[in-house]
Amino acid sequence: MKQMIKTKKRGSLIIISGTTCAGKGSVIKKVLEDNPNMSLSISYTSRKMRKGEEEGVDYYFITREEFEQKIKNGDLLEYAKVRYGEYFGTPKDKIEDLLNEGRDVILEIDVQGAKQVKEILPETILIFIVAPSMSEIKRRIKARGAETNEQILDRFETAYREINEIPKYNYIVVNDKLDEAVKKVEAIIISEKCRVDRIEEIYVENKEEIIHEFLMGKEYDNRVKTIDEAMNQEKEDHTN
Ligand code: 5GP
Repeated sequence: MKQMIKTKKRGSLIIISGTTCAGKGSVIKKVLEDNPNMSLSISYTSRKMRKGEEEGVDYYFITREEFEQKIKNGDLLEYAKVRYGEYFGTPKDKIEDLLNEGRDVILEIDVQGAKQVKEILPETILIFIVAPSMSEIKRRIKARGAETNEQILDRFETAYREINEIPKYNYIVVNDKLDEAVKKVEAIIISEKCRVDRIEEIYVENKEEIIHEFLMGKEYDNRVKTIDEAMNQEKEDHTN
């Protein structure tokens, strides 16, 4: 039986951005655990590796010079100077392959990068994750500790700047309870798969065949049959 609706096999590209302490890392981790068909793109960065981070897991850590060479070579889908003038960028090559294999790819990038990708690939899904309130952000920053006042101020500045960019996104998810936020992100991705503009072909079987099957109570078989098959069919029809 031929499928009635054939949709694009290409995977979806999903950008997840969010304010500081919005918990996007935890949301993404859970979404990836729940959906083995999804991959997370690992970015290049010129910033220093932090304690607990791993090369090729959190980022590919490279020098500024190496990063600038990648820009010149056209190896990046997007890039931006995100914090303290450090570069962050998305490798281009692997993403196209993964999408063509039908895998969904998540990019965890900032608003500047999201804007660039949306221009190149307009079908990209943009999701913004926010903490429930600024006072909750304050509480989460305090709980994290280990940052200088200058770094904390920079986080607030960036958060206020990024909140103004929310209207450029397609979806917003408030991360009050992690499980709820994960459910919402997964629901967004599922709904995007059902969009009518993902349809490549609509096929409906011949009306006469369907009516014949319905009235005769059996499959209308229009395959070319061998003589034996045709004779057996005939016998069966007689005995019924
Ligand atoms: P960090 O890892 O220093 O805590 O945060 C880095 C910031 O840079 C986050 O806001 C993150 O979303 C963003 N970022 C990470 N990778 C990329 C990237 O490849 N491109 C862009 N534009 N932003 C990125």
